[in-house]
Amino acid sequence: MTNAARKPYIAGNWKMNLDRARSLDLIKTIKGRLGDGGDREVAFFAPAIYLADVAAVAQGSPLGIGGQNIWYDSDGAFTGELAPRMLREVGADRVLIGHSERRQVFGEPNEWMGRKVRASLDTDLLPIYCIGETLDERKANRTDRVLKKQLEAGFEQVKTVDAHRLTIAYEPVWAIGTGETATTEQVEAAHRTIRKWMAQRVGEEATGTVRILYGGSVKPTNAKEIMAIDDVDGLLVGGASLQADTFLPIIEYDR
Ligand code: PEP
Repeated sequence: MTNAARKPYIAGNWKMNLDRARSLDLIKTIKGRLGDGGDREVAFFAPAIYLADVAAVAQGSPLGIGGQNIWYDSDGAFTGELAPRMLREVGADRVLIGHSERRQVFGEPNEWMGRKVRASLDTDLLPIYCIGETLDERKANRTDRVLKKQLEAGFEQVKTVDAHRLTIAYEPVWAIGTGETATTEQVEAAHRTIRKWMAQRVGEEATGTVRILYGGSVKPTNAKEIMAIDDVDGLLVGGASLQADTFLPIIEYDR
């Protein structure tokens, strides 16, 4: 399966931003502009406390709504955590796993990733599994090694039949929220490494169904250029997803 056969996927990660009223306004505006969603998939990853309201407003539209994190058990003594089934219950249909802020700021180890990915698949929450190297790792020429290690962890319990429900986001840590974007060559090389690794792990055919997104300071001014890079199937957008006037041109990158 080639790039063209994979539906472009534009995802907005609100992180710990916006408030309830502004979240709902943004959903209404984007929903009104989406059309039938036939030629691209658009989703927002909202703070968990707003998920139920945001999902209710998005209902009846093709807009996907997801959480930003989960724990992998379905219940138990895990103060402050959310089970995948809880996100499903309030209307979320997807989730981010292993975002670099979870890994870097909150110390989530690679060892949790396989169980989180498995738990999301088992609950019918479509995961975006985030991977990416730090600046030190890139400078030390360790990018490929780091990406493969993160892929090994995330795919620990992924079967070939699951692959099409999985999305990978390549997000170089040094490009997230910094205004710095990876070069075309850097993005191309990383996406090639990721797809090659997946082909060895789940086979060529299944790999062809997995979308690989790029994330890291995507803006209206660079979205089209990044989407034109070989093997980029979509974008994971932080800051620019917080306002309709910056997110709409990204969704509509080719119009
Ligand atoms: C992100 O949150 O995953 C992200 C890429 O953020 P930003 O677009 O702000 O760099």
